[in-house]
Amino acid sequence: MRIHHLNCGTLRPPGGAMVCHVLLLEVDERLVLVDTGFGSADVRDPRRLGPLRHVLRTALRHEETAIAQIRALGHDPAAVSDIVLTHGDLDHAGGISDFPAAHVHLTAEERLAIRRRRGPREALRYRPAHWPPRADVHGHAPGEGRWYGFEGVVDLSQLAPGLLLVPLPGHTAGHAGVALPTEGGWLLHAGDAAHSAASLLPGGARPGVHLRQGLLAHDTGALRRTQRRLTALATDAQEVRILTAHDRGSWERTRAGD
Ligand SMILES: [Zn+2]
Repeated sequence: MRIHHLNCGTLRPPGGAMVCHVLLLEVDERLVLVDTGFGSADVRDPRRLGPLRHVLRTALRHEETAIAQIRALGHDPAAVSDIVLTHGDLDHAGGISDFPAAHVHLTAEERLAIRRRRGPREALRYRPAHWPPRADVHGHAPGEGRWYGFEGVVDLSQLAPGLLLVPLPGHTAGHAGVALPTEGGWLLHAGDAAHSAASLLPGGARPGVHLRQGLLAHDTGALRRTQRRLTALATDAQEVRILTAHDRGSWERTRAGD
């Protein structure tokens, strides 16, 4: 299995530019995406993203979409068989519509939250244009598995060898991370559970980031509990490499080693 690290959307909120870190997995003849960033329909019509695009200050470029980067790598976008989402936010789900034949996987709780779109925060984050009714969206109930003490882990190894969906609630109701075994140890895409892996370590927290996370969080208490567990993981498990969705520095470093 080969892993590509893509930036599928540039954000420029106050405090510095951010990326949308997407994983593209080559599994035999198939491709699997972990998150999608923004899609080509978002680039054509940014109104799909609603008012939050002004807060995130999205810089939409066709060449940053997953579909354009998959083509640039010489692959057929129709080879994308599955998309695994950390959550359903606009900056993670925008590209789904570029892959109409793909199966979409997320936690059952997140799928329910997207369907309900309860309250103003969920109306802003889950965009109806990104979530038309489609039969191939699979909401996975909590699994029996455990991974480094995290519970409810869902085994998705039918999609890619060893792939796990690891519940990391708080940012959204059913937010999850995606863990992958690699030659050098585990890779955990922790989505928006933290600003960056460095921010999880002692002294790494930045007050402005905490404020923004709090405003966007579905459940601040659950987010803090998730972050404490990720801090323990980052501290104790050297063989686990944690990356987050929007940390530009870690995307650039990972990309350099891609
Ligand atoms: Zn995000």
